[in-house]
Amino acid sequence: MYYGAIKKYDVANGEGVRISLFVSGCTNACEDCFQPETWDFRYGSAYTKETEQEILDFLDNSFCAGLSLLGGDPFEIANQREVVQLCKKAKEHHPEKNIWAWTGFLLDQDLLEGGKRHCEVTDELLSYIDVLVDGPFMKDRKNLSLAFRGSENQRVIDVKKSLQQQDIVLYLP
Ligand code: SF4
Repeated sequence: MYYGAIKKYDVANGEGVRISLFVSGCTNACEDCFQPETWDFRYGSAYTKETEQEILDFLDNSFCAGLSLLGGDPFEIANQREVVQLCKKAKEHHPEKNIWAWTGFLLDQDLLEGGKRHCEVTDELLSYIDVLVDGPFMKDRKNLSLAFRGSENQRVIDVKKSLQQQDIVLYLP
């Protein structure tokens, strides 16, 4: 896996002070995507064990509320297989901290069993995610006043409640 950036002390992508990983690779091709350079699965730097450790070390800070995963798209299958390991370790070290993720795919249509981005690690990965912002960016539904999303079709989902209830439950801060 490659990544475009790691943002420490991030206060824009999720609640509280966070560390954010922007992975590379996205096939959603949303019109007016704000970072089309990240569609390339080889954009940026190689994600290594040292990269993973750097993220886990920052999570150890008591002021850090959690980890955010953005892209590109963390739910591209090639990315899921790496991201799941990071999430697993993050939750082992800090079960009290939350993980937010952004994807252009849809939780109920694409990421659950039978969906086009469901693979052997997807269920495990979803078990670690607390909040998922899903859906493609749609330029005709763009709204700059929305929190944590760029267009009105996108949903801020409470993943644990949604999986328990087998229905989409929106996240209420
Ligand atoms: S999902 Fe995100 S990175 Fe991918 S094309 Fe859409 S806006 Fe761009």
